[in-house]
Amino acid sequence: MLDEETVSAMGDAELSAALALLRSEADRRERGRARFEKAELSKRNKRDPRCPECGVPLMGDGRRKDGVRSYECPKCHRHYSDTSSTSLSSSKLTPAKIRAILTLITLDCPDWVVAEIAGVNVKTAQYWVDRCLDAAGEWSMESRLSGHVWIDEMRFAPIRASGFVDGVWTTYAGRIAKDAYMEVAFDSSGRGFCHLFAERLGTPGSAMVSECLSGRIEPGSLLTHDGASCHNRAVRELSLGDDWVKFVAGDAEYERKMKLMSNCCSYLRHCFESHNGIKFSKLEAYGNFFMYRWSHVRKHGLRATIEFLFNRVCGTAKSQISESLF
Ligand SMILES: [Zn+2]
Repeated sequence: MLDEETVSAMGDAELSAALALLRSEADRRERGRARFEKAELSKRNKRDPRCPECGVPLMGDGRRKDGVRSYECPKCHRHYSDTSSTSLSSSKLTPAKIRAILTLITLDCPDWVVAEIAGVNVKTAQYWVDRCLDAAGEWSMESRLSGHVWIDEMRFAPIRASGFVDGVWTTYAGRIAKDAYMEVAFDSSGRGFCHLFAERLGTPGSAMVSECLSGRIEPGSLLTHDGASCHNRAVRELSLGDDWVKFVAGDAEYERKMKLMSNCCSYLRHCFESHNGIKFSKLEAYGNFFMYRWSHVRKHGLRATIEFLFNRVCGTAKSQISESLF
């Protein structure tokens, strides 16, 4: 063991060599610990421990040389670990560092600020933003609304545009020639989702609204909405309780019933405006991320929201789609 006397007798070169050796040993141990910690996090949060190729449940077959648990697919005999196919599989960062990055993302820091503060490069920051979008997207797909449900269509309108060039407006939603609409839906238990009507721009018709809500709201739920005619078909087809209130500026009943929806939509607008330049193709993904944050912070506070997001990111499969977008 090194003692003070030995150290003070060392030359400068000897001291820095010893320091480098100690640092690299400390790094090696930290990476080892992080591997186990990440394996545990993925195992705990994974929703579907199956072979990503065959879809067959995996069988444990012992441990790798480095001690990480390994699994074998009974069908294709490929080997996997707990982190396989999750956001953690290709990351060398420690869980503490990942948590710090997710905190900055939740606080709306731009990629370059996340990179600067967390000490990673911008690509890495973008990678984790995409993992957060995946996690929120998965949350919204799992959300089946029930009880008391609110819906409304949010408009990304060219009138909010900054420039009109060659017949195309440039808005904070990217370049669109016509109004784009996003369905915003949530319930009293804190579940929710956004759906962008991307296939057809302009005011959505009743068939589009009904199709978008179908299978995502339990029959018999009470639906509070602004009585737009495109909602009628969904109310009928999905057997929902019809609680509509006509929009009249300053009307007390409208304000009371639609207060939560107005609050949610202003929040979403504010978020989109502070993320100027989101690609049209990512509009829905960001909508779901903002909705996730709105709903969780309201119910559980910011700290718990970051922890929920971190756990969800650890268990969420990477989407190939967002991978190819940046
Ligand atoms: Zn397989």
